[in-house]
Amino acid sequence: MKVVTRFAPSPTGYLHIGGARTALFNWLFARRYEGQFLLRIEDTDKKRSTSEAVDKIFSGLKWLGIESDKPALFQSDNSTRHIEIANKLLKQEKAYRCFCSLEELTEMRKKARSEGKTRLYDRRCRDHKPTASDLTRPSSIRIKMPKENETLINDLVQGEIKVTNDNLDDFIIIRPDGTPTYMLAVVVDDHDMGITHIIRGDDHLNNAIRQLHLFHACEWDTPKLAHIPLIHGHDGTKLSKRDGALGIDSYAEMGILSEAMNNYLLRLGWSHGDEEIISTKKAIKWFNLDAVGRAPSRFDMEKLLNLNTHYLRNSSNKDLVSYVIPILSKLMESEVSSIAADRIERGMPGLKQRSKTIVELAQNSLIYSKETPILIQKNAAEHLNTQSISLLSSLHQNMANMRKWDQDSLEKIVRTTATENNIKLKQIAQPLRVALTGSTISPSIFEVMEVFGKKETLNRLKTVIKV
Ligand code: GLU
Repeated sequence: MKVVTRFAPSPTGYLHIGGARTALFNWLFARRYEGQFLLRIEDTDKKRSTSEAVDKIFSGLKWLGIESDKPALFQSDNSTRHIEIANKLLKQEKAYRCFCSLEELTEMRKKARSEGKTRLYDRRCRDHKPTASDLTRPSSIRIKMPKENETLINDLVQGEIKVTNDNLDDFIIIRPDGTPTYMLAVVVDDHDMGITHIIRGDDHLNNAIRQLHLFHACEWDTPKLAHIPLIHGHDGTKLSKRDGALGIDSYAEMGILSEAMNNYLLRLGWSHGDEEIISTKKAIKWFNLDAVGRAPSRFDMEKLLNLNTHYLRNSSNKDLVSYVIPILSKLMESEVSSIAADRIERGMPGLKQRSKTIVELAQNSLIYSKETPILIQKNAAEHLNTQSISLLSSLHQNMANMRKWDQDSLEKIVRTTATENNIKLKQIAQPLRVALTGSTISPSIFEVMEVFGKKETLNRLKTVIKV
C-alpha cells in the first residue's frame, strides 16, 4: 500500500507551531515510506478564512521545505461532491432530513445537559417520514449513528479508544442553508484524495470517532489514525504568544534558520534515542509514529535557540552572508556594498561564534559594513584618550612595516607593542577595537584586522590618531 498523508489547515490565522509540526510529521512519514504528501486548504468557513492566511500557510511551508506532491486542493471547490455524497446517504436511508427549528434544538440540548447526557439531539426526526409540507421548510441532513455497541479506534499514537455509540449524536452533514459541514467534507476529501494515514492534533480525536462512522456509512476504507498530543507552553499551560503561539513566519523574522526550526519541531513530541541534532535526511530515515509520545510537549524557546546556534555555526559562510545582507541593508537603510559583503564573508568564522540568530549575526556584521569615517559609539569613545591614542600611534608605526598580514603576525605585533610600552594586552586591544570598529564588542581583534586588510586597518587607525 502506498502511503498518502495530508496536511489540512483551516486558513483562519497564521501557520502556528502546532500546525507546522503536524505538516512536518505528515511530510516525514510520507517521505519515509516513499509515499505522497498532499496539502488541502480547509476553507469552507468562508467568514473566517482569508487569503492572507492561505498565503502564510504556503510561505511558512515553503520556508520549512515542506512541499506538497500535488497542487494544493481547496476544500470549498469540492462542495458539489460533498453534497452528492450526502444525497446518496439520504437515498440509502443512512442519513435523514431534520426539520427541527433552532428553538426546538436549544430546548433539546438544555434538557439533555440537565440530564447529564452527552448526546444532545434526541433523534426525533430519525424515523420520521417527511410530509409534503415538511419538505417546504428548511432542513438539515443528519447521519444515522449506530445506537448500539461501541466504537473502537486503534489510534497509532493514543492506542485503543472506546466510545459507547448511544452517546454519539446524529450529527449534521448538510446545514439548513445547503452547505456541507466540516465533518462531511473532511471524510469525502480524505477518501477522494486516497489518504491512508491521518496524522493530526489530538484535539481532533472526538471528530475522528464521528468521521469513522461516515467512512463506514459510505462503505469506504478507513485511513489509519494518529493523533498527536498538543503543544503546551513552557509551564505546561496553553501555549501563549510569549511561548511560541506565533506564526511560523515570526520565527523566520527573529532569525531562526529553517533547519533549526525543523529539528526543533521534530523533537517536539518525537524522539530517537538521545539524538538531539537530527538533520532532515536522518529524520526521513528514522521517523515513525511509534516514537511519538502520548504526553503533551512543552515549547522551549531556549532549546530552539540552542539548536539555532548549532545550525548557524554549521552553515556555510556564503549562505549566512546571503541571509544577513537583506537584514543589514534594512538596519543601515542603504545597500550593502560588495566590499562589505566580502568582508562579512571573510569575517564570518568569528561572527558566527557570537550569534544565536541571523538577526544577531546581522547586528554583529555591522562592524564590517560601515564605511569610514566610522561612528564611535558613546560607551566606546571613553577608551580613546591621550594615553591610548599614543599607544595606537606606536602600533601604527610597527604595523606599517609588516609584510605578512595574518592573524598570527598581527597578534605578535600587538603583543610586542604592549610589551614595549609596559602594558597589558587588554590595554591596547580595546582602544584598537574601538578605533577599528567604533564598538567595544567584536570578534577577535586580530581576525578583524585580517579581514579589513592592511590598508583599511592603518587608515582607520590614522583617523583616530589624528584626532
Ligand atoms: N482543518 C482542521 C484544522 O485546521 C484540520 C482537520 C484535519 O486535519 O482533519 O484544525
